[in-house]
Amino acid sequence: MKTSRRGFLLFSVGVGSSLALSGRAFADSAHLSETDPKAVELGYKADATHADKAKFPNYAAGQACNNCSLFQGKDSDAWGGCMLFGDKQVAAHGWCASYTNM
Ligand code: SF4
Repeated sequence: MKTSRRGFLLFSVGVGSSLALSGRAFADSAHLSETDPKAVELGYKADATHADKAKFPNYAAGQACNNCSLFQGKDSDAWGGCMLFGDKQVAAHGWCASYTNM
């Protein structure tokens, strides 16, 4: 009886650790890279102040993902979903040429 309880506890800890690690790995890999082809096309920058203002003159100071209508995170989130980039998360202070605030 002791052995099976011990086995169950070890199994539970193992499964929990695996889930935590895979969740962390997913969160890390889910950040949109500036080199992603669609990100390049839309001039996405993780720091909005680095937007290419010559190529994307629609950029205006103060625009950022966390005040864009397509941002799916909360105001306090450092990263959040974007309706344009599927399961990739964009930086709250990022920007791309599809910025909209309606
Ligand atoms: S559409 Fe909006 S939330 Fe998405 S990357 Fe562009 S600026 Fe950020």
